[in-house]
Amino acid sequence: MAINSEWHATHKLPRNAKLEERLNWHIVHAANCGCREMPATIKRELEVRGLTVPSPRSLK
Ligand SMILES: [Zn+2]
Repeated sequence: MAINSEWHATHKLPRNAKLEERLNWHIVHAANCGCREMPATIKRELEVRGLTVPSPRSLK
């Protein structure tokens, strides 16, 4: 999937973002844009919390 530059322009992840912010960002990012894979550390943290990783298809 191509980069959703419009989404990125309105959803900036701060350089010093906390884990919590990064988790939320990656969840929303995965649902809105496919420019890059969710990092393994984020995926693992979601699993630990019992959260599922959304995909663009699952939202339609
Ligand atoms: Zn992206």
